[in-house]
Amino acid sequence: MGKGAVVKFNSRKKAITWMTDRLLLDEARKAAKKAYAPYSRFKVGAAVLAADGRIFFGCNVENASYGLSMCAERNAVAKAVSEGARDFEAIAVCADTTGPVTPCGACRQVLSEFSPSMRVIMAGRSGKARTAALDRLLPESFGPGYLRKRAKKRIGPKKHAGKR
Ligand SMILES: [Zn+2]
Repeated sequence: MGKGAVVKFNSRKKAITWMTDRLLLDEARKAAKKAYAPYSRFKVGAAVLAADGRIFFGCNVENASYGLSMCAERNAVAKAVSEGARDFEAIAVCADTTGPVTPCGACRQVLSEFSPSMRVIMAGRSGKARTAALDRLLPESFGPGYLRKRAKKRIGPKKHAGKR
């Protein structure tokens, strides 16, 4: 699968989860090869699966002004949102590490904005991947629910997953 990859869901959604996770990881590994990381040399790839079956990719993009560097996960989310996807099933993240790499705190927060309980599949260069629900990686998160009253007019009445 390459650009414009689509996962077709069926009624046996759970049964295809494992396969989907593997596919997402493959896509994340491919994305990592595109990373622009001349300073840290820490290449990360991410692939986020939207509820409509579309997959969006991201890699980290560093900058000579270090603080402007952006993580793979957030780049993938920005791509998805700019293409109209806001509801996510899962994200795969991988880096050239010995064990599974975990998303940084900032990325956990950004993912949580859209899908607080999405699956997060984490992997290193080889070996077993690790999967966890996002709300386990970021418990008691701050979410849109806190701002619902004020934000209602701006983001519309669509129900957010955050229940506060
Ligand atoms: Zn991050």
